[in-house]
Amino acid sequence: MSDLETVKIPDIGDVDDVEIIEVLVSVGDTIALEDSLVTVESDKASMEIPSPATGVITSLLVKTGDRVSEGSDILVLDVAASASTGTADASASKGSDASTPTTSTAAGASPDNSDEHHDLIVLGAGPGGYTAAFRAADLGLKVLLIERYPDLGGVCLNVGCIPSKALLHTAAIIQETQGMSAHGVTFAKPQIDVDKLRDFKEAVIGKLTGGLAGLAKQRKITVAHGFARFQDSHLIAISDAEKEENTSESTRLVSFDQAIIAVGSKSIRIPGFPYDDERLMDSTGALELADIPKRLLVIGGGIIGLEMGCVYAGLGSQVTIVELSDGLMPGCDRDLVKPLEKRLKNDFENIFTGAKVTAMQSAVAGLTVTFEGGKAPASDTYDRVLLAVGRNPNGSAVDADKAGVTVDERGFIAVDSQQRTNVSNIFAIGDVVGQPMLAHKATHEGKVAAEVAAGQKSYFDAKTIPSVAYTDPEIAWMGLTETAARQQGVKYQKGAFPWAASGRALSMGRSDGLTKVLYDPDTKRILGAGIVGPNAGELIAEAVLALEMGADIEDLALTIHPHPTLSETLNFAAEVAEGTVTDIYIPKRK
Ligand SMILES: Cc1cc2nc3c(=O)[nH]c(=O)nc-3n(C[C@H](O)[C@H](O)[C@H](O)COP(=O)(O)OP(=O)(O)OC[C@H]3O[C@@H](n4cnc5c(N)ncnc54)[C@H](O)[C@@H]3O)c2cc1C
Repeated sequence: MSDLETVKIPDIGDVDDVEIIEVLVSVGDTIALEDSLVTVESDKASMEIPSPATGVITSLLVKTGDRVSEGSDILVLDVAASASTGTADASASKGSDASTPTTSTAAGASPDNSDEHHDLIVLGAGPGGYTAAFRAADLGLKVLLIERYPDLGGVCLNVGCIPSKALLHTAAIIQETQGMSAHGVTFAKPQIDVDKLRDFKEAVIGKLTGGLAGLAKQRKITVAHGFARFQDSHLIAISDAEKEENTSESTRLVSFDQAIIAVGSKSIRIPGFPYDDERLMDSTGALELADIPKRLLVIGGGIIGLEMGCVYAGLGSQVTIVELSDGLMPGCDRDLVKPLEKRLKNDFENIFTGAKVTAMQSAVAGLTVTFEGGKAPASDTYDRVLLAVGRNPNGSAVDADKAGVTVDERGFIAVDSQQRTNVSNIFAIGDVVGQPMLAHKATHEGKVAAEVAAGQKSYFDAKTIPSVAYTDPEIAWMGLTETAARQQGVKYQKGAFPWAASGRALSMGRSDGLTKVLYDPDTKRILGAGIVGPNAGELIAEAVLALEMGADIEDLALTIHPHPTLSETLNFAAEVAEGTVTDIYIPKRK
């Protein structure tokens, strides 16, 4: 029996013709009285429209971007359906408070063929997945975290951010000691014990991943090790290994009310290369540090390729970079990349831009590579080759289609601002939902998804996600870049401060840096910032906070920064914009 009721926009006061900026519900959702249905925004305020009744949504009559007024139809509600599912179900759905965790229409019901049931299943224990699982458990949900590998932590902890930074630190110290000869201090050539260095890196990883296992236990999260695939929108199969078939005898079936897909990404492979030769590495192989090759070719001049190039150059390899674009780090502002290119020209054997590798063959002496374009030779032989040409999402490998979740041809899963996929009880976060593929984006999204799953009204509404290349010098940027501003025709002004005038930078022997701040010429609000120089990754956080807080250029210029620090360069860049700087001379415009 159904009893359909069309829900309309109620009296919303002194406003008319307002825009729907968010549809908060989907067809099939069970909603309770007063649950939020849509968010509308006028020039005065935004407000959520509450449901006038309990029921199940049978059709949506509006979408984001539509304009509505009092009396406009929003959706059709089957008010009889809620009676059959029970009001307990309905009141525990969207919009309920954090202390009464969300359960969807399948709440508590374990399908007959499942082995166990959980409120929330998280697929993948990378920074996105473990953060989501921990937050959801803290909010009272019964959580199952599924990870295919024995250790938690995903790419970031095991084969990404953390091991690369452990090795980069070593390389940076070696480089720094070499630079000390200009200060009158000369160190002996370093003796590198590769086994010990590898052990150090593994110990750092072990400490962090072991810590995660402990944190999961403290939160009473069930952790399952195996490969997860959807069977339908409330059922997952966990098999022992990454098999094509789901029919493995060891498959365990688990039902869920809600799920979060956090399965990350993997390195892109160029077809035709000899992948059975262990001298051809991806970033995971390079981080294993099997040895220090005499000559290393890095294919790809993006962040990962350059960071690994810096590691191996620091350890003594002769590194060559080949990059298809005209410059390193495509997409990043050229004035930030320039000091890096200058330094790397010194530290690396060769940098071939506008060039590509067209073929590669295994030989006794090494991997023989054929180049095309730029100033690259026709061919050359390297002891090892690192392929770092980007990463592809893992969205296609979890049979998401069986749950009705749309995955695009590359493997990305589209989500709304609450991390919800097109299926209302299934969320997705991290690398699998799109760029930028960064750990701090994944963790932030993980918290949003967990909070929404637990009934909170959370949104991913960060104004910016900062990017950092931990090269030497580091490059960091946030908000609007000059490259993007020009491409998009956004009006901006900028204040830039060269580190050659920073006392702290000079005392470190590092005058090659630059700090710049972009701001809106009319409102003076900060739009973006870019920094190149040692510790740029730490320094950018202040600019991120400034942007999030809606600070203007005067706020940065009038904030007293400690002296002498590199952080002053942000202050000085803002003073340049304000015309109040005294640490450099800027001729007055006539
Ligand atoms: C060399 C390197 C250096 C990096 N450095 C940085 C850095 O300095 N800063 C930064 O912000 N980012 C860095 N990144 C990127 C960062 O690691 C990723 O953005 C981040 O790990 C993404 O997190 P995630 O949770 O989405 O996925 P991942 O970390 O990829 O985790 C996904 C997890 O899901 C598991 N999984 C996949 N499929 C299944 C399945 N079907 N069943 C069960 N489990 C499954 C995987 O085993 C994995 O553990 C780096 C990456 C690399 C490769």
